[in-house]
Amino acid sequence: MNKEAKIYVAGHKGLVGSALVRALQTQGYHNLLLRTHAEMDLTDQQAVQHFFAVEQPDYVFLAAAKVGGIEANRMYPAQFIYNNLIIQTNVIHESWRQKVKKLLFLGSSCIYPRDCLQPIKEEYLLTGTLESTNEAYALAKIAGIKMCEAYNRQYGTNYMCVMPTNLYGPGDNYDLQTSHVLPALIRKFHEALPDQPVVVWGTGMPRREFLHSDDMAAACVFLMEQCDKPQMVNIGTGEDLTIRDLAYLIQSVVGHTGEIIWDAAKPDGTPRKLLDVSRLHALGWQHKIKLPEGIAKVYEQLIQSDRFD
Ligand code: GDP
Repeated sequence: MNKEAKIYVAGHKGLVGSALVRALQTQGYHNLLLRTHAEMDLTDQQAVQHFFAVEQPDYVFLAAAKVGGIEANRMYPAQFIYNNLIIQTNVIHESWRQKVKKLLFLGSSCIYPRDCLQPIKEEYLLTGTLESTNEAYALAKIAGIKMCEAYNRQYGTNYMCVMPTNLYGPGDNYDLQTSHVLPALIRKFHEALPDQPVVVWGTGMPRREFLHSDDMAAACVFLMEQCDKPQMVNIGTGEDLTIRDLAYLIQSVVGHTGEIIWDAAKPDGTPRKLLDVSRLHALGWQHKIKLPEGIAKVYEQLIQSDRFD
């Protein structure tokens, strides 16, 4: 990928997309193609066709998606399956029609079976039943992976699929109903008075792995530059912790000293989701930002900007 290449970042306002733009610009890529949702609706096939025909990008990062936490997935499964299927179908197909050199599709660790062996290797895809709380989203992402593989097989394209673990970073969604656990807990502990109890969902027993979006973006740029085999690659830290320990960690970063109340009426979701990152490590990339440091950094930025929207 030379520095003059035309690079389209689909979803550049999102958590990963915005981190990708920062990473690419820092590394001297200046020919970025960016369109806000208002400028181009990725569910509109004609708009996407027109954009690709006119702009002819060389490389595509497909980071546009409808995403959300356990509650959002439960409430809006139709929107999750529809929006993700249509966005990825439009972008992947037009990338092929306009001869994009390489595309990187972002999946998610929730594509793997619910009761998967841990840590999860890439080849465990489609070896078991999915977790029901995010099945619609997971099925859409699996279709995206299989679409990339089918185009690679039939058309000889070079489309890579990356499976990030749970991500966090600047510009995350802090809406308590629809967000993921990490931003939700930062907000809950921040807004509680120091000795006021905070309600955390589920039993606290599930285990999750977390990666900072700047690390995620660095990994994506690295793979786009260095990896020429159109394979699927997990992106994570290879380390996880319980939701209980995550809550204690965030509580200490924020400086909350009150009680934590566990609301077991809320779903736990998948018991464990730890990615096997040996393929990524073998390709030559490892994460840099440790979880306590990443949470502290995100919290500091939030305090400075004083915004949770
Ligand atoms: P998941 O990784 O797809 O299950 O999505 P989430 O990030 O939404 O949830 C991860 C885990 O954190 C689940 O076990 C949730 O029950 C738990 N959790 C605890 N408190 C919260 C909260 O305030 N918001 C969210 N979204 N999850 C929470």
